Amino acid sequence: MIMKSKRRVRTSKDFCAERASQGQRVGIINLGCARNLVDAQVILGNVQKQGHTIVDIKNSEVAILNTCAFIEEAKKESIDAIVDLVELKKQGRLKKIIVTGCLAQRYGPELIKEFKEIDAVIGAQKLDQRNVPEQILLTPGHTAYVKICESCYNCCSFCVIPAIKGKFVSRTMESVLKEVERLDAGGGKEINIIGQDITAYGMDIYHQKSLARLLQKIAAVTKNIQWIRLLYAFPAHVTDELIDVIAGEDKICKYLDIPLQHISGHLLKAMNRNMTTRQTMALIRKLRTRIPEASLRTTFIVGFPGETQEDFEELLRFVEETRFDKAGGFAYSREEGTPAFEWPDQVPENIKKKRLDKLMKVQRGISQSVQERFLGETLNVLIDEKSLEEKGLYIGRTEFDAPEVDGAVTVRSQKLLNPGDFVSVKIRDTYEYDLAGEAV
Ligand code: SF4
Repeated sequence: MIMKSKRRVRTSKDFCAERASQGQRVGIINLGCARNLVDAQVILGNVQKQGHTIVDIKNSEVAILNTCAFIEEAKKESIDAIVDLVELKKQGRLKKIIVTGCLAQRYGPELIKEFKEIDAVIGAQKLDQRNVPEQILLTPGHTAYVKICESCYNCCSFCVIPAIKGKFVSRTMESVLKEVERLDAGGGKEINIIGQDITAYGMDIYHQKSLARLLQKIAAVTKNIQWIRLLYAFPAHVTDELIDVIAGEDKICKYLDIPLQHISGHLLKAMNRNMTTRQTMALIRKLRTRIPEASLRTTFIVGFPGETQEDFEELLRFVEETRFDKAGGFAYSREEGTPAFEWPDQVPENIKKKRLDKLMKVQRGISQSVQERFLGETLNVLIDEKSLEEKGLYIGRTEFDAPEVDGAVTVRSQKLLNPGDFVSVKIRDTYEYDLAGEAV
């Protein structure tokens, strides 16, 4: 979607056609989740194909802002970034501002009206199902995100994503495998499989859940890539077949990101999560039995309309008993256009905040003690970067840590290490989310 207004706003096509010959310096700011990051990489790939030069945003004359609009906080962050860019343009330090992504998709006309300095508004990127899009990677060369599908079927009553992203679409296996082979040939060591609901992969084009089959094919075609990580699994779509493939395939990280959102039966129903309390607990038991070493990451929402103190205490007990390796939390964000927006029994903001603080405090304690199990262990660590603080110090991750969102391992090494190296590390210290040790 490209927004036009009464004032003739030149579209990105006009702008590209007009300017391509002159080749502008284009920079991008990406906000939001890893899925948005992939969209930003595709946008940069197109911009480069148009003959423009990709530069750091500080040196750009054309700024692209790839926005997020998932919840209130994210919308505010996107608006603040627009205001900053508008200020730079008023100072003559920027020639063009292009706003893309979820906020552009959700509030295009309003943005055009509100900010006269915006030159183009481009809504959510359409996922190319068949071709491998040209991308400029915004991640270090050894790790990459591979988006296999877009949007989702679930329509949780608090979520705007299906309204922003439209109907669920999967990329063909051929297209995903081609991209993975390209990353593998390029020396990639880790790929993070993403979508809004990766466990629904293939339900549209193959008429069945096909993630397990895709993972087996990815494992078979990769030589350099040693870690295949799964992010954003929908609990109700996790099959026994998928669990068996995760358990049985060495290259698949023993790690699963599976947002549960809550445990109280009536709230799971009101959220339209298609899972009961009993089914949720059974799934966790199955995962823990079938893949005992797996690191489980989840997310919870507190303060959803109708959440009582008893519901919250039930959630706290569940978190204390289940001991997730990693758990994030959000205070419910009332989003217009979602069913729950209109519901009675909205929980006051101060109660939401108190519950979120309590939940995160409990989880920090659990994370700390979960990390202690690694003390004295020797773990396989993927080096992400050299520490700028000290020679011989590096930052890396174990297979139990996703990039950006989880902890890290500080590695001391006599031997010179480079990003993308795997090294065995003897763990000497453990912290709430991080570890520290020596290369052995
Ligand atoms: S699964 Fe639910 S929360 Fe996740 S993107 Fe889909 S509708 Fe939103």
